[in-house]
Amino acid sequence: MIIGKIAKNGKKIKFNEKIICNNCGKQVPGGLKTGEAYFKTKSFKTELENFKKSYLCGICRDKKRIENKH
Ligand SMILES: [Zn+2]
Repeated sequence: MIIGKIAKNGKKIKFNEKIICNNCGKQVPGGLKTGEAYFKTKSFKTELENFKKSYLCGICRDKKRIENKH
C-alpha cells in the first residue's frame, strides 16, 4: 500500500506498521510505502494516524460499499 506522497522520481521507503481494521479488528499486513522525503515530515505522521483510524480491511470495505447502495 502506498500512503502519502512520493515525489516524481523520488526515493521510496518501505516500512511496517501495525494496521488493524476498524470494523472487525482483524490485523492486516502493514507493509507500506511512502516517499523518503515525506516520511520525515509531521504531515506524514498525521496522515498515517488518520489512515490507521479509518482503515477497513478489504472485506469490511466491500460490505460497506454494498450497504451504502441501499
Ligand atoms: Zn474488517
